[in-house]
Amino acid sequence: MSSRGDYLTTIGVEVHVELSTVTKMFCACPNSPQDLPPNQAACPVCLGLPGALPVVNREAIRLGIRAALALRCRINETIWFERKNYIYPDLVKGYQISQYVRPLGEWGWLAIVGDDGEEKKIAIRRVHLEEDTCKLIHSGENALIDVNRSGVPLMEIVTEPVLRSGREAEEYARKLRAVLVYNGISRCRLQHGEMRAEANVSIAPRGKTDLGTRTEIKNQAGFNHMRSAIEYEERRHAGILDAGGAVRQETRGWDDVNRRTFVQRSKEDAHDYRYFPEPDLPPVRLAPEWVETEKAKLPRPYDDYLGELRSLGLGEPDIEALTRNDALGFLGEAVGGKGDKTILLAKRLIKEVFSLVNSTGRPLDESKLEPAPFRRAVELLEEGKVNGEGFRKILEALFQRGGEAEAIARKDDLLIERNDAAIEQAIAKVLSEVQPMVAEYRAGKKAVRNAIFGRVMKELKKKGDPKLVGELLDLALG
Ligand code: ADP
Ligand code: MG
Ligand code: ZN
Repeated sequence: MSSRGDYLTTIGVEVHVELSTVTKMFCACPNSPQDLPPNQAACPVCLGLPGALPVVNREAIRLGIRAALALRCRINETIWFERKNYIYPDLVKGYQISQYVRPLGEWGWLAIVGDDGEEKKIAIRRVHLEEDTCKLIHSGENALIDVNRSGVPLMEIVTEPVLRSGREAEEYARKLRAVLVYNGISRCRLQHGEMRAEANVSIAPRGKTDLGTRTEIKNQAGFNHMRSAIEYEERRHAGILDAGGAVRQETRGWDDVNRRTFVQRSKEDAHDYRYFPEPDLPPVRLAPEWVETEKAKLPRPYDDYLGELRSLGLGEPDIEALTRNDALGFLGEAVGGKGDKTILLAKRLIKEVFSLVNSTGRPLDESKLEPAPFRRAVELLEEGKVNGEGFRKILEALFQRGGEAEAIARKDDLLIERNDAAIEQAIAKVLSEVQPMVAEYRAGKKAVRNAIFGRVMKELKKKGDPKLVGELLDLALG
């Protein structure tokens, strides 16, 4: 009798990520699949009409270089595109422009915490660029096609078959997402399909060097689904092998309601994509100087930044809040080259900005808040130019509408009053209104000073510089 312990699991993960460029991969159509009504971003190129000529999107290549660098890949100096031919309803062109022989990047790695608790470097086989397909929308008996997504820049990142469990695969996918978001390569919003992970799973008797037959699990909604599907496949494969059977190579989906995988298509209709070099695109040279320039622009590596935050004394709950909100890149940009104020900015981000995220239900990257104005708002508070209430009002305006911190402070009348004359005028007005209190104070009941001070601050709409107001009030009270 055999059991699961007698088998070694092997997993390789393929991840597709949509790049946040302004236009599509090979044409000038806007890359905004979910912001436009269906079929509004279409042209002869992304519809694959005869005679239409594609042009490579330089920004997509740049993001590809950035990703390959962040994943420590070797970058090929000359790359080219191939046509991958197949027939499927979501592929209106009948082929997809992809990369096959010479991908943009090869042989990188991403560190995760392995099942044994030790750091494990997951080997990345390739990073290449291609284009997304149309979106199929199933409605009742019908399937509708939205071509807005056709031709959206897509990056594929493929690991070696080195992951050993659903947990490791999930950890890898989460870490990869965090690194891509941190490096500004994609927003990777799973709910918008901006990141899709597929796992290839096989098992083989321990001690055997040949890998078993794999099944591929398609486009899961979340990484936890991927893990469940992998764990289900481990059990299913073991059951088949225990019974003396053979696992069939096929593509399967995950049914989260019944918690099992199901066959989507068998590899019997074996893929012959008839790849050939894309005749309408010349090879692209990635000049080493360009790659070097991009390297210099990368933020420090994700793990290094986490380490630095820890060494500066940021606690785990704060780190967790930053990573959960995908805010490490934002924080890094707010801190900027100066490298100062890290903890101060982190704390303000966590306390004030994340509470706006929670109260509005709007994630940071969907708000209008940018790192530089955020930093300026914090500085205004630090410099005593606005008070806590003014600071929160500025942040809220930046979050909802964007803009510059100082301009908002001025326009919304939030700057602290430092004008002696204005403060003296307010003090005179209040003292004339509270003459009995003034008399009490002068008779020795010093405690009423607080009440008078409060009235003056109120008169100044709480924007008086408290220290200055106090000094001028004491002068006036004599
Ligand atoms: P394809 O492009 O046809 O899906 P690849 O050979 O490029 O196939 O592999 C895709 C992914 O599957 C890679 O991540 C690879 O590591 C993984 N993989 C390949 N063979 C196996 C196997 N026997 N068991 C587990 N994973 C595998
Ligand atoms: Mg595959
Ligand atoms: Zn187009």
